[in-house]
Amino acid sequence: MHRDRFTKIVATLGPATSSPERLRALIDAGTDVFRLNFSHGTHEDHKQRVALLRALEKEYKHPIAILMDLQGPKLRLGTFAKGPVEVRNGQKLRFDLDKAPGTDKRVPLPHPEIFAAAKPGGVLLIDDGKVRLRIVAHDTKTMDTVVEVGGMLSDRKGVNLPNLVLPVSPMTPKDRKDLDYGLSLGVDWVALSFVQHAHDIAELKKLVGGRAAVMAKLEKPQAIEHLDEIIEQSDGIMVARGDLGVEMPPEAVPPLQKRILAACRVLGRPAIVATQMLESMVHSPTPTRAEASDVATAVYDGADAVMLSAESASGDYPIEAVTIMDRILKSVEGDPLYRKLMDASRREPEATTADAISAAARQCAHTLGAAAIVTYTNTGSTTLRAARERPDVRILCLTPNLHTARRMTLTWGVHAAQTEDAHNFADMVQKAVRIARKEGLARQGERLVITAGVPFGTPGATNILRIAHVT
Ligand code: PGA
Ligand code: MN
Repeated sequence: MHRDRFTKIVATLGPATSSPERLRALIDAGTDVFRLNFSHGTHEDHKQRVALLRALEKEYKHPIAILMDLQGPKLRLGTFAKGPVEVRNGQKLRFDLDKAPGTDKRVPLPHPEIFAAAKPGGVLLIDDGKVRLRIVAHDTKTMDTVVEVGGMLSDRKGVNLPNLVLPVSPMTPKDRKDLDYGLSLGVDWVALSFVQHAHDIAELKKLVGGRAAVMAKLEKPQAIEHLDEIIEQSDGIMVARGDLGVEMPPEAVPPLQKRILAACRVLGRPAIVATQMLESMVHSPTPTRAEASDVATAVYDGADAVMLSAESASGDYPIEAVTIMDRILKSVEGDPLYRKLMDASRREPEATTADAISAAARQCAHTLGAAAIVTYTNTGSTTLRAARERPDVRILCLTPNLHTARRMTLTWGVHAAQTEDAHNFADMVQKAVRIARKEGLARQGERLVITAGVPFGTPGATNILRIAHVT
């Protein structure tokens, strides 16, 4: 299984995509990474999906990355006595901790941390920002607000607090249970929602203990204030435009997307652009032209991956959504402007041996018209450096570590394969040539640019570059 493209596709699984046939069709259509959304479904649902994916991985003989997404502290209203209520501009509305069903005068909000963090002037957004209120007074149990934008309120609608920092860990008791469970299933990536600080990620990393790579979902304005620290601390990033676009005005999202992707590129962390990419395909077999353009923009911006949410999890056309995404990605990558943009956004390599080798590998591959760059790696760090260069050929990641191979599947341009470490120079070339041919990345007569570390088998020692003929 090999893809004729650099940018990866992440598909969220759900009721529409849980049968073995559907999973197979998703892979065939171009899905590289599968997302398990722990905001929905039971543990048993996720377990079955992981089992099916691991069976397909064996069958396709190609590593598959599974990303678990923790719900995080999604805040919600309580319930209402007599169904939905309407609140009007200018009226007062009280929130409190009392569980009694709400009315159009008072609403239960079962989150003491909100009352603790409340400040006069603070904004509450309800139901993806449809209703907007401003705090005028509060104590530890009640909060009085004025409705700025009225609308309907109903049971358990989501609440966002764009300009308040909640003094809580983004991991709820549910997240901790889910995390344990996901790790026991052997997921490759863990994504954390509503990250506000780098120490949120540090906390998650401690719990994960190296069993998976960790990803920060950027969907809070507070996270943007600590952008570089958060990226530095994370193994990957998701531009979570759904909640980000509620917590910030919609016009703030496009420049932020570009800024986040550029920052990830500098630090060499893979980044996903997520949410509403082909939203109309939840119910329609074709996307709007504006959606096609949005996917294309993420690619031109240099994203490692683009993601489908409801389109693939619960939509009517999950396979069609992946198919059209695949076509958009290839179309952009075939545009000479894309190549120009990738070249123009390259940074000076860091003054390290590994970075100098990676930069030289890109140059050699380009000058010689090589078929691929081959990186021998243990942790994947050399492969990430190679990908950060955005070379004009794909990167074959050879690693003895299956976990690394799976994680790397998310990264731009990387085709991963598990193999033993090379024993000597001849073995290094033979393995690279054999696997590149077998995986469909190179043909006889072409050249490969290989990076590795000598002494062989020592992690973190990339120090050689070798040009090999494919025989
Ligand atoms: P969610 O995250 O789907 O878990 O909300 C993505 C987003 O907010 O964009
Ligand atoms: Mn979100």
